[in-house]
Amino acid sequence: VNVIGDDNQSALFGKYDLGPLLGSGAFAKVYQAEDLHNNGESVAIKVVQKKRLKDGLTAHVKREISVMRRLRHPHIVLLSEVLATKTKIYFVMELAKGGELFSRITSNRFTEKLSRKYFRQLISAVRYCHARGVFHRDLKPENLLLDQNRDLKVSDFGLSAMKEQIQPDGMLHTLCGTPAYVAPELLLKKGYDGSKADIWSCGVVLFLLNAGYLPFRDPNIMGLYRKIHKAQYRLPDWTSPDLRHLLRRLLEPDPEKRITVEEILKDTWFNHGVDPSEIIG
Ligand code: ADP
Ligand code: MG
Repeated sequence: VNVIGDDNQSALFGKYDLGPLLGSGAFAKVYQAEDLHNNGESVAIKVVQKKRLKDGLTAHVKREISVMRRLRHPHIVLLSEVLATKTKIYFVMELAKGGELFSRITSNRFTEKLSRKYFRQLISAVRYCHARGVFHRDLKPENLLLDQNRDLKVSDFGLSAMKEQIQPDGMLHTLCGTPAYVAPELLLKKGYDGSKADIWSCGVVLFLLNAGYLPFRDPNIMGLYRKIHKAQYRLPDWTSPDLRHLLRRLLEPDPEKRITVEEILKDTWFNHGVDPSEIIG
């Protein structure tokens, strides 16, 4: 990470022109910007306040950033540059022009064909990262974006380890926030396998794509935990038997029994109607 100057302006000055706010999460604000060294091409810049980092930038965080910068995959938001001042870190990323995937499902569910398209793109990104020892650990709707061709782009890959070092500013990400996407073994607060936890979250995403609502909902947090631990959900009647079967395997409470990425690639629903040449292998 190049520490450039003392303030905002000096880090971006002459390189990027900051534009409108695209979105904000518990940890950061993301702006659209123009890359002045690249014909004003649109990019997204995520700004993280360093004072929210627990012990500043540790060696571990720097390593995560260097890993993330090496991730090049058609369905992962490309991180092109990281800049820092004494107070802020700027992540310069590819702009996902289509916005959040899930702003498009809130009112109407997707067909199984469309759900399959996005699920396949998600799994190909997840598989690529897991093969490199990188786990997302925070796969959820706000982190699934669309590009101008309406293809999926997973954002924040590799940044999860950094997030653990950041103090969230709101209730949303604290313990009493919504664990709707979190694998049961994470709730137990013991050690867990990052790849298995990501697969669970992919199951929640696939459920949501198909049903238009989340699998686990409860006004009471203990009630929600109970449902997650038992994988107690209700699928809509239209769900095909093959998709039911795959969801059962993804939302398997026991991480040891849960389907693996390699098994997903061989799944019947996953491959239904797909041209054999498109089969990920
Ligand atoms: P946080 O880590 O605080 O959750 P995110 O990286 O999820 O921050 O970004 C917050 C929001 O900004 C996202 O939910 C999305 O709407 C928007 N956003 C983030 N990255 C991009 C991007 N590369 N292109 C377009 N919008 C983005
Ligand atoms: Mg986010």
